[in-house]
Amino acid sequence: MDTARLTDSHGRVIHDLRVSITDRCNYKCVYCRTGEDGPQYPDLAIDEYLQMIRLFVDLGITKVRLTGGEPLMRRGLTDLVRELSRLRSFAGEPLDLAITTNGHLLDSLAAPLKAAGLQRVTVSMDAVDEHTFERITRVQGSFKTVVGGIRAALAAGLGPVKINCVLLRGFNDDQVEGFAHFARRENVIVRFIEFMPLEEGRLWTPEIVVSLREIVERIGRELPLVELPPNEASETARRYTFGDGVGEIGIIAPVTQAFCGACSRLRLTSDGKIRTCLFSQVEHDLYGRMRAGATDSELRQYIFSTVQQKEARHHIGEPGFLKPSRSMVHIGG
Ligand code: SAM
Repeated sequence: MDTARLTDSHGRVIHDLRVSITDRCNYKCVYCRTGEDGPQYPDLAIDEYLQMIRLFVDLGITKVRLTGGEPLMRRGLTDLVRELSRLRSFAGEPLDLAITTNGHLLDSLAAPLKAAGLQRVTVSMDAVDEHTFERITRVQGSFKTVVGGIRAALAAGLGPVKINCVLLRGFNDDQVEGFAHFARRENVIVRFIEFMPLEEGRLWTPEIVVSLREIVERIGRELPLVELPPNEASETARRYTFGDGVGEIGIIAPVTQAFCGACSRLRLTSDGKIRTCLFSQVEHDLYGRMRAGATDSELRQYIFSTVQQKEARHHIGEPGFLKPSRSMVHIGG
């Protein structure tokens, strides 16, 4: 077993782990959740996530993203970040450590998280218009709170701050140009993500997806765009700056320009199951084995064999496509 590089059966090197540390979320974004369903899976102890993440790092994971649910709701988060910041990759480097959050609790947590060793945050934000934003999150006052959180993150040194925006046609696609100005004004990188069939309800259709091509055309009409080279081979975003070099936007197009061939990811759910693809039909119970007393060596072997089952690609939009058993909020986006 090659422990320095976790490679799947399709030759992809797996170095990126997304870990959901709670299934709870304080927003009920209308495209993500029905609004009636609460958390569906248990949270584990913070030490248990740490124990599992260590195994992945032993096997070659270099990038760890904490997510949820809403990770900032999780008690013990700063302790976990502190411990993770002390881990070293197989090559002896600190991990690339970040959090994906809705930003609601970031104002007070940005500085302590930075002090604990966090490097960056990605904040999800689906509108730059206050009214539209609050209609999406279903939480009054959320817009000002999140903008305050983003500014606190920048002030704490958690930059570059990335903003992830999911666009749905006829719903928030009128925000595209506003986001381009927001990126420049607030000094953040805005990344538009195509909507995937991963919602709790049934909203997804091919027509509701706003494609990469359309986004580029629309922004380009308002502000000339210049394409930037990828930062790394497995980068999922196409990156652009503006004609004057101020500001950056990115577009992640899993639906219209799938990047499965360059996928370097694994996910660990809040209840300790490994998912090898967002659209996997099966989960692999790492936590169950850990609880049953498997040794670290057995658990590493289990992760290694699980990675060999990583799917070649997703089948969004194809006949016979099946939604996974969990939606995005319960997988950990
Ligand atoms: N609560 C955290 C947050 O808001 O970033 C982390 C969890 S949230 C599920 C992670 C990301 O998934 C958010 O950026 C959200 O917009 C995105 N997301 C949710 N449902 C999606 C879908 N069906 N397609 C694409 N992205 C989705």
